[in-house]
Amino acid sequence: MSRGFFQPVSGMDLPRFAGVPTFMRLPVMGLGHDRIKEVNVGLIGVPWDSGTTNRPGPRHGPRQLRDASTMIRAQNGATGVRPFDLINCADLGDVGPNPADIHDSMDRITAFYDDVRAQGITPLTAGGDHLTSLPILRSLAKDSPLGMVHFDSHTDLYHSYFGGTMFTHGTPFRRAVEEGLLDPKRVVQIGIRGSTYDNEDTDFAKSVGIRVIRIEEFFRRGLEDVMVEAREIVGDQPTYVSYDIDFVDPTFAPGTGTPEVGGPNSFQALEVLRKLDGLNIIGADMVEVSPPFDSSGGTAFLGVSIMFELLCVMATHLNPR
Ligand code: MN
Ligand code: MN
Repeated sequence: MSRGFFQPVSGMDLPRFAGVPTFMRLPVMGLGHDRIKEVNVGLIGVPWDSGTTNRPGPRHGPRQLRDASTMIRAQNGATGVRPFDLINCADLGDVGPNPADIHDSMDRITAFYDDVRAQGITPLTAGGDHLTSLPILRSLAKDSPLGMVHFDSHTDLYHSYFGGTMFTHGTPFRRAVEEGLLDPKRVVQIGIRGSTYDNEDTDFAKSVGIRVIRIEEFFRRGLEDVMVEAREIVGDQPTYVSYDIDFVDPTFAPGTGTPEVGGPNSFQALEVLRKLDGLNIIGADMVEVSPPFDSSGGTAFLGVSIMFELLCVMATHLNPR
């Protein structure tokens, strides 16, 4: 039922396996589209994995996520939210990276998000490896540092790799703090686990005041209690949500480059986002889905289901009624 907002193509009108697979079957609108100013949330692909240190593949993520997103319907079964009746959503297409030049790629991504911001659009990104978040934050945090809720099995806070390489998917949030893009006292990282090289990343977190909630604490205290604390940490100021699919246990999300066992299940993967309802979310991303390792397609489907939960909380923030 349309209330004048852009509507996805319904599976009741055209079977979901038919048609061109845009994000959630929404209209595609480039930044030059004559109705671009009406868009509230823009879904954007960043097909790029030049920051990957181990198993690659997230450059193929956006295309696979678009295909899987044809499974998404208009209403959230858990919360009842109908995002496409609250705000205007559109698929803004992909940022074209330069796979042979990491800094040129980051500049292109930041420039694209500058244009998105200039139109008043809140971006919801499909990566891409986790380095994708850094050039996005360089745009979104231009006015002031942001808070962040970060779901991941890794902190991505290392100083450098391979003897001095500063820009990888294991370093984006170290750079973001150094560049003043994040207010570390308003950053919470949830789900951290697995074997590590050393404590260099968590020592840094401690030194700047980033709250790290390891998976042992997550399961001991319970999802509900942990998310209450996460909300208190970011407060009501502008907040970014960054979601690495490897937050989820590899039983449910094997299609990623750096899986870690002992993680949340696919229900918990969605439920944590429902607890973000009402926060001042100014952008979000879902990264590290790697289709070459996703033989069942289930990781991509979980990825777009996560994007739909993010979209629902973003829509209720932008139009609280
Ligand atoms: Mn990550
Ligand atoms: Mn990770």
